[in-house]
Amino acid sequence: MAHDCLFCRMINGEIATDVVFEDDDVFAFNDINPQAPHHVLIVPKKHISTLNDLSENDHTLVGKVTFAAAKIAADLGIAEPGYRTVFNCNADAGQAVFHIHLHLLGGRRMTWPPG
Ligand code: AMP
Ligand code: ZN
Repeated sequence: MAHDCLFCRMINGEIATDVVFEDDDVFAFNDINPQAPHHVLIVPKKHISTLNDLSENDHTLVGKVTFAAAKIAADLGIAEPGYRTVFNCNADAGQAVFHIHLHLLGGRRMTWPPG
C-alpha cells in the first residue's frame, strides 16, 4: 500500500469507488471519466507503479488482472461484440496514475491506431 497512491487509497476503502469486481488480488472499478459506454479499470491490489516495474513474481498477478477483464467484459455483454484493453506506461502513453491498471473499454466501435 502506497499512501500517496490514489488507487491504493481506493483499494483501501479511503475513497468512495464504484466497485465492479474484487477478490483477494484484484480490484476493478468504473473509470470516473469514461471514454466509452463501458470503461472499467482493473488493478492488482499490490502497488506496482508501471509495467516497467513488474518482476518475475508478478506474472500470475498480471494474468489474474487480464482474466478479470475478460470476465467483466462477459458480464457486461461486450465479449462477443468486442472490447479493447490497454495498459498505458509512462509519459508517451499518457499514464496519469502510477499504479498499474488495465483499461477495459467497450460498447462502441474503436478505431486504430489509437490517438
Ligand atoms: P492512465 O492515463 O492510463 O493513467 O489512466 C488513469 C485513469 O484513471 C483515467 O482514465 C482517469 O479517468 C481514471 N481516474 C482518475 N481518478 C479516478 C477516480 N477517482 N476514480 C476512477 N477513475 C479515476
Ligand atoms: Zn498504488
